[in-house]
Amino acid sequence: MSQTTTINRAAIYADPGTPKIEVLELPIPEPGPGEVLVRLLYSGVCHTDYAFCTNGFPHLPVPTQKGQIGGHEGIGEVIAQGTGVKTPQVGSKVGIKFAADACLACSNCLEGGETSCAEAKISGYYTPGTFQQYCISTARYLSPIPDGLDLAAAAPLMCGGVTVYTALVRSHVRNGDWVLVSGAGGGLGHLAIQYAKALGARVLAIDHGSKKQFCQSLGADEFLDFTMFQEDKDLSNAVLQITSGGARIGLMCSSSPRTYANALSWLGFRGHLVCLGVPEVEGSLTPSIGEMINNEITISAIKAGNRREVQECLQIAASGAVKTHYELRKLDDLGDI
Ligand SMILES: [Zn+2]
Ligand SMILES: [Zn+2]
Repeated sequence: MSQTTTINRAAIYADPGTPKIEVLELPIPEPGPGEVLVRLLYSGVCHTDYAFCTNGFPHLPVPTQKGQIGGHEGIGEVIAQGTGVKTPQVGSKVGIKFAADACLACSNCLEGGETSCAEAKISGYYTPGTFQQYCISTARYLSPIPDGLDLAAAAPLMCGGVTVYTALVRSHVRNGDWVLVSGAGGGLGHLAIQYAKALGARVLAIDHGSKKQFCQSLGADEFLDFTMFQEDKDLSNAVLQITSGGARIGLMCSSSPRTYANALSWLGFRGHLVCLGVPEVEGSLTPSIGEMINNEITISAIKAGNRREVQECLQIAASGAVKTHYELRKLDDLGDI
């Protein structure tokens, strides 16, 4: 081990159900067989972390436990290997994802659905996550970080970036398709605009007017300020006009119930709605089966990508096509963030 300290500073959920965070000094863990010790350099903060901390996901089987170390968008360096580990080597830059490990043998894993493996360990939820200085990780499940990628910028790609990239490829985006991005100026949305452009699509961004310049600077071809439309049908008409009959892909990067309630009216023939943001209340998406059949509409959802999709997503960012907008903050500021 190359580090000289023996202290691991870690942010824990001090009172799950509330946003209370405490930073503790813990011993640095030792990697077991098949594991490596990662010295974390950067961790993204995702809305899911907030939901784990505050028990904001009613669909989860058990509540978050007190003392949980959160975080699932980590970038770090391997500093020690447990027994039996050949790769990644000490010194390698690696990424820690939403899933910290999966069995890789069940039918979900074999289909690339590792985050839905019954044996999956979830970073920051019953598995210590990336809001700490040192983290134990399963060696085979870490993602190698390509050379040339800004390590701080890579952190949010481990969850947000790969999720929007995966949403685009699994909805079979084609050159010239209109991709509508709701919540386009946010954490997921600003990456969705860039990945859609990198994959050859045209982008219609929807957000508050204060995000217009930002979205355009990322490559959005068109922008609609939803606050300018008092009637939902006027917003739908504007979308249909810009996209000549409706978007082919709608990426729901906003968790707003109003957005979900209107989303299907924004799609054209064989449109594909991809649910990403989790609304706080259920019941906002109520499709008309008749209209779905009439327009051959697909509705799907993405939890996170798999190892291959992470690699593809990182390669596109390493090529320079995607730039994460981020602000660096200290671990002690996590509660404020
Ligand atoms: Zn996340
Ligand atoms: Zn599995």
